[in-house]
Amino acid sequence: MAHIKLTEIQAGCQTYEIMTRRGPLKVDGAVVDGFVDFDKRRIVIDDKVEGARFVEVILHEVEHIQYPYLDESVVEQAAKEKTDILSELNLLGWHDD
Ligand SMILES: [Zn+2]
Repeated sequence: MAHIKLTEIQAGCQTYEIMTRRGPLKVDGAVVDGFVDFDKRRIVIDDKVEGARFVEVILHEVEHIQYPYLDESVVEQAAKEKTDILSELNLLGWHDD
């Protein structure tokens, strides 16, 4: 179970908080692994998300902040590609295959 204590990060030239929370997390009635609360400037990630998926969710939510004009499908693909590259280069600190 991944756990992040409330931590400040820089994203989109602004300060955001990032934290894990016990799920299920819901946005508009749908269960999600993570989301951005733009009002509170906070990224929240389900603490059951682990491994490469955990990295992917962080990258995904950061991209929503950095590129708010991008569609969900574009962000989804971009975060997955970056995570796959990091995994391929063995930069995630574990083997995920
Ligand atoms: Zn998204």
